[in-house]
Amino acid sequence: MAHIKLHIPGPVEVSEKTFKAFASPMIGHRGQGFKDLYAKIQPQLQTLLATRQLVYLSTSSAWGVMEGAVRNLVAKKVLCCMCGAFSDKWLDVARRCGKAAEGLQVEWGSPIRAAAIDAKLATGEFDALTLIHNETSTGVMSPLAEIAALKRKYPDVMFIVDAVSSLTAVPIDFDALGIDVLLAGTQKAFAMPPGLAVFTCSPAALAKAATLKDRGYYFDFVEFQKNAEGDMTPSTPSIGHIYALASKLEDFFAEGLTARFARHAHLAGRTRDWAARHGFTLFPEPGFESVTLSCINNGAKPGGRVVDVAKLQKLVKDQGFLIDGGYGKIKGTTFRISNMGDETDATMSALYSALDSAMQKL
Ligand SMILES: *Cc1c(COP(=O)(O)O)cnc(C)c1O
Repeated sequence: MAHIKLHIPGPVEVSEKTFKAFASPMIGHRGQGFKDLYAKIQPQLQTLLATRQLVYLSTSSAWGVMEGAVRNLVAKKVLCCMCGAFSDKWLDVARRCGKAAEGLQVEWGSPIRAAAIDAKLATGEFDALTLIHNETSTGVMSPLAEIAALKRKYPDVMFIVDAVSSLTAVPIDFDALGIDVLLAGTQKAFAMPPGLAVFTCSPAALAKAATLKDRGYYFDFVEFQKNAEGDMTPSTPSIGHIYALASKLEDFFAEGLTARFARHAHLAGRTRDWAARHGFTLFPEPGFESVTLSCINNGAKPGGRVVDVAKLQKLVKDQGFLIDGGYGKIKGTTFRISNMGDETDATMSALYSALDSAMQKL
């Protein structure tokens, strides 16, 4: 069957070059070859995350590290900042880990703001918070710098940040922000196959984790640090993914991170223009639109055009492209178009043409 090109917000399209690297011959994960591979990419990962801390490789999807962060860092109570399907779910996951957890819920489409977090942390009840930087279900990017600035006021609260659909598309300076955990899965803005997560921890997070019981083993942050010091991972990693990551990092630095960030902003802007041209409004609150995907309003909020999303998807799919029909409780009343990863003006133009011709038939 012919491949339908992915413009859903994860997994996204993977290049031939990446797949080729993924299929490199296998090596032993305790041998020098593996250590050399990890040692080669470590400084590139540190540049990408703007950190002097070691960057860890977890053979899991993002949720593994999201759950692990809660197990490693929550002793008292975690504040889960909730503004969409993924961030809402983190509260449930924390409770399933047996942790005391409370939600800070804002309406879907709105960002998380520092003032609301400040009011909650001022109670002194919390020793950790979870935040999703780019809520993929709503297309909302919360103001990370504004939120991270709170860390100075609450140095003992662990700031756990999911940048699954934003890392590599916008600058995220881990050390400068002063946050405690930053994590991303590789099937979103990294444009790699699903199954690997990249993350780092502050020295304070590592010190705190060491004091917690029941961290388990597979996602024990102390184990990740100990192993990373020797260019290894705690358990046998998906070595193919790490070859693919090395290839992808080559691509990122060949393009230049600044150019990569600008490309994502530019292409998201083009999708917003496409939506406006067809009479649609956007789901996110103005000023907080994601640069990796666009969540287009289709009746979830008043105003703007409304179409049969299933029909739009089918008409676009017949032309070789997969777009998303909305996630969770806003399925059908929104739809999403991803521009993350390797997309260019040319590839996005092909998608907009297919969308234009589909719109003529609706
Ligand atoms: C996709 C996504 C996740 C979940 O990732 P998995 O790979 O399914 O574990 C978490 N957070 C955000 C923001 C996402 O976009």
